[in-house]
Amino acid sequence: MESLAASLLELVIETSTNLPPDVRAAMSLTARLETPGTQSSQALDVILQNVDMAAGDQGAICQDTGMPTFVVHTPVGVNQIHFRQAILEAVAEATRRGKLRPNSVDSITGKNSGNNLGEETPVVHFEQWEEEQIEVKLILKGGGCENKNIQYSVPCELDHLGRADRNLEGVRKCILHAVWQAQGQGCSPGALGVCIGSDRAHGYELAKRQLLRTLDDVNPDPRLAALEAGIMEEANKLGVGAMGFGGKATLIGCKICAANRLPASFFVSVAYDCWAFRRLGVRLDPATGAIVKWLYRDPSQPVEAMARNAGFPLTGREVALTAPFTEAQMRALKVGDVVLITGEIFTGRDAVHSYLMKNPPPVDLNGAALYHCGPVMLKEGGAWTVKAAGPTTSIREEPYEADVLRRYGVRAVIGKGGMGPKTLAALKECGAVYLNGIGGAAQYYARTAEKVLGVYLLELGIPEAMWHLKVKDFAAIVTMDAHGNSLHADVEGQTGERLAKAL
Ligand code: SF4
Repeated sequence: MESLAASLLELVIETSTNLPPDVRAAMSLTARLETPGTQSSQALDVILQNVDMAAGDQGAICQDTGMPTFVVHTPVGVNQIHFRQAILEAVAEATRRGKLRPNSVDSITGKNSGNNLGEETPVVHFEQWEEEQIEVKLILKGGGCENKNIQYSVPCELDHLGRADRNLEGVRKCILHAVWQAQGQGCSPGALGVCIGSDRAHGYELAKRQLLRTLDDVNPDPRLAALEAGIMEEANKLGVGAMGFGGKATLIGCKICAANRLPASFFVSVAYDCWAFRRLGVRLDPATGAIVKWLYRDPSQPVEAMARNAGFPLTGREVALTAPFTEAQMRALKVGDVVLITGEIFTGRDAVHSYLMKNPPPVDLNGAALYHCGPVMLKEGGAWTVKAAGPTTSIREEPYEADVLRRYGVRAVIGKGGMGPKTLAALKECGAVYLNGIGGAAQYYARTAEKVLGVYLLELGIPEAMWHLKVKDFAAIVTMDAHGNSLHADVEGQTGERLAKAL
């Protein structure tokens, strides 16, 4: 199989950098249907540009390249041990080239392996079949949306929806609740894979496998087809909007399967995928390992540009700010303002926040913008370059952020998906704001980084280190201000009221 290594590497790189046509079509339609001039529409414009940038430069669509999950079908006689080894080598090579972020962390020591290999990573499922070719499907699903997966054990009580019983009506309620609870934290508009039944572990696996279906297919089971269509219609009336900003764009797909269950159990397992729905596949010649056919895409067709505009869609009401910031500047901002940041910012996410609870920061954070971001960085010619750098989900830092604001004088927290009441209270007390970037827009934001000024705490691993960046016109929306206002709390409340009407 002399071509196997090159074929698998091509599959990994294409999956990370080139969104499949069915997702592109769904996102284009979603952008067209959104109300122009809204924050949701602005976010979709940036997302479309980001997709073009990623495909054009073969850069990662999102900096979180996820847990690589392969589903491989092999004819009898293929050596699966050798095949797995080839997959590991392809994943490590794609990481070395900056197409995948080093994402594999030892769960006991916290150490990043640096090459995406480690205990049970990547995930590889083998199945045998009676066809002649080998089929490899790959899905890259990041942590932000993975954290919004949810499993219900019915009967259960749901916020705004009441009791969900052991029938299709109860399942419908669970799925709608799953969409609502995700809000913008999983980078909406998202897609759902759902499994009705099975046991806890297999139910989640089957739910994720539903994401291997194309968004435009029709479920062969008419009962499930009707449920899928109904969920799409109702979910898109909730008003979550792109990034949870409020708007029409909430869901781009819903795929449901049913599996037999134990009489005592009734699970509804939901896998939430973000708009950066990276999934491709190939058919391989079992003798040479060469790609015989691509799945989900036709490489003979040109990749069509998606962007409607160039740059962040400006309204003329944007606030240009130079970091570091003063308290007065931050108190003057209010929810809904769009800011364009120029100057120096620092990245910091889970490990940095944990570090700051026990240690002083390695830099002066007074007036600083702290960016929740785990970038893809590559050392080229002895210097670090930013390869992908969109915001990560901020709510993970909710237990720490109020202390960070109070102790170290941070004036702006940048991330996505919003934060909770503890942070909101600290923003008000300290005179600081939360700025929501466009989740997944990793290429777009990488291009705002003019220079890497330094790196601290690199021992935490590349994504977790504190990167000191010089940015220009970094666009973000004030979604939590220093006056106690939170767009996230407002949208959650409004969508909850609409959810109750779906009863
Ligand atoms: S688009 Fe958002 S949810 Fe999806 S992988 Fe990127 S950061 Fe995570």
